Amino acid sequence: MFVDSHCHVNFPDLAVQMPDILERMKTNGVGRALCVSVNLPDWPGLIALVEQHDALYASVGVHPDYEDTIEPTVEDLIERSQHPKVIAIGETGLDYFRLTGDLTWQRERFRRHIRAARATKLPLIIHTRASSQDTLDIMREEGAQEARGVMHCFTESWEVAQASMELGFYISFSGIVTFKKATELQEVARRMPLDRILIETDSPYLAPVPHRGKLNDPSKVIHVAEMIANLRGVTVNEIEEASTRNFFNLFNKLNDKH
Ligand SMILES: [Zn+2]
Ligand SMILES: [Zn+2]
Repeated sequence: MFVDSHCHVNFPDLAVQMPDILERMKTNGVGRALCVSVNLPDWPGLIALVEQHDALYASVGVHPDYEDTIEPTVEDLIERSQHPKVIAIGETGLDYFRLTGDLTWQRERFRRHIRAARATKLPLIIHTRASSQDTLDIMREEGAQEARGVMHCFTESWEVAQASMELGFYISFSGIVTFKKATELQEVARRMPLDRILIETDSPYLAPVPHRGKLNDPSKVIHVAEMIANLRGVTVNEIEEASTRNFFNLFNKLNDKH
């Protein structure tokens, strides 16, 4: 069984075709998908969706790209995380690519997510773009290693991967690793210790080759696994088993039910 460790199937384009997506997941052996929260107004809808489907889990958090939205308090995140299907805090982090100017609010928001993750012992889902140094600094300052988590849709250097792993974090590869020009990232995927690899779609975005440019969905995570297997010269089955085991080791709120 494959697991898509990061998707946004609650986004309208995907939510309307949920029955088809679940069918395709079944066909491709994708048994679970983690539907990641990006803001609080859409969160009740996300929860309603994951409550309907055994294959789906949820997180709670506010994405760093959402500037004009309700700011989550630590208490708010802790309270929402008590829902049985919420297995992570995020996505959170920093994004200096999409937003510029005074981003103090983004760093403060990130710090509150780390505090909530430490308080709840739930892992963090971290988004970092053009901001790896500040991301790692804040992770260290706030003790993110106590919560652990995943650097999702990883596009950084091997050095950033190593620094993240030293903090107990996993590295998640998206469809970007299948793109021809992503040679540095492919090298990271090749060098990674097998017990820290996760795979994701980040759907509806970033459809992997051979679906590049089309609408993405969790069933397509198999192509990410195939690419990593090719890069490492191992079978897809080996990546399937390892990434699924890693997923349940990290997101261990599920373990009593698994
Ligand atoms: Zn992200
Ligand atoms: Zn995302």
